[in-house]
Amino acid sequence: MTASKTVAFSRRSANVFLHVLTRCNLRCRHCYINPEQHGRKRLPLDRIERWLAVFASRSPSANLVLLGGEPTLHPDLPRVVRCARRLGFASVTIDTNGYLFNDILDHVTPAEVDVFSFSLDGATAATNDRIRGRGSYDICLSGIRRARAKGFQSSLIYTVSRANLEELSAMGPLLAELDVERFFIQVLGLRGKAALTGCDPDAPEASRVPPPEWLEHVPAAAEAIARRGIQVIYPRVFLGPEEKFECAGLVADNYFVFPNGRVYRCPLCEDYPVHSLEFREDRLVEAPRLNESDFFRLNLAEGCVMNTLIQPHHLRDHADGSPQYKIACCLLKEEVFPAPELSL
Ligand code: SF4
Ligand code: SF4
Repeated sequence: MTASKTVAFSRRSANVFLHVLTRCNLRCRHCYINPEQHGRKRLPLDRIERWLAVFASRSPSANLVLLGGEPTLHPDLPRVVRCARRLGFASVTIDTNGYLFNDILDHVTPAEVDVFSFSLDGATAATNDRIRGRGSYDICLSGIRRARAKGFQSSLIYTVSRANLEELSAMGPLLAELDVERFFIQVLGLRGKAALTGCDPDAPEASRVPPPEWLEHVPAAAEAIARRGIQVIYPRVFLGPEEKFECAGLVADNYFVFPNGRVYRCPLCEDYPVHSLEFREDRLVEAPRLNESDFFRLNLAEGCVMNTLIQPHHLRDHADGSPQYKIACCLLKEEVFPAPELSL
């Protein structure tokens, strides 16, 4: 048995996604990093500490996610983690491709890092490595095992595209064998490389799954995996005509922070200079208008304004011109719990 619920947006719990650098050792075909927009800088430790202090004061007890690029390439990452702990962040997560550079597992403890979140895009090396690069499957699995052996909690992120949808259901046995506690299914973002290739049939690894296939496969696969005792989180992506649409930019407290000082409230905006906040001399200030905050207020029948603006060809209309689906906020998630959670 499983149970599921849509996770409501809340302004009470903030989330800070801090890109400590944009450099990465991999070249994933759907990579969402856009160096033209976010630069190639590595944030120095003293600046990270000042920026974290700003968020700790603005949104006390926020959750912090450290990411890149590949964040473990940052030699000061352990000191960043300890700074976040001193400042009272509620949780610290490190998103990694599994290469775990700079012996990171030897320089932080499970008391300091709540979760190492690994990225894998296939249940087999053949599928994953076609998307993420040769050898990355084996290294990621080895990284997960090493993290688990040292007592770290681990989660796994799987970005669904046309190239790996068929392998989603095969992830259950692998996750159970790796002893991964949480599984995040992501929809391919309309950012970075994926935004450039869009629905190109010759680039299935950077091509989104259309609504009928998503709705047929993803919720069922999530349930099957949850029945193995793993918590599964997946994006709603599409809403029924009667379901309420909300934009996280208006009703949640999220910050997507880049080394060049741009701070977005919506990840779909990251390819454009429309950030609503920015660091100037280490102070977080409003960015010039027009910016993403002006888009959030547009009330469209299609739902998410950024999806509608960026890739309108993903939308499907009825004969009368009304949209077949409302596009949910990309941050709206469904959580599927295994049976033991039900009795708590
Ligand atoms: S691991 Fe992440 S940052 Fe690195 S290339 Fe892949 S998607 Fe991009
Ligand atoms: S994805 Fe769409 S709905 Fe969500 S914050 Fe961005 S603009 Fe708003």
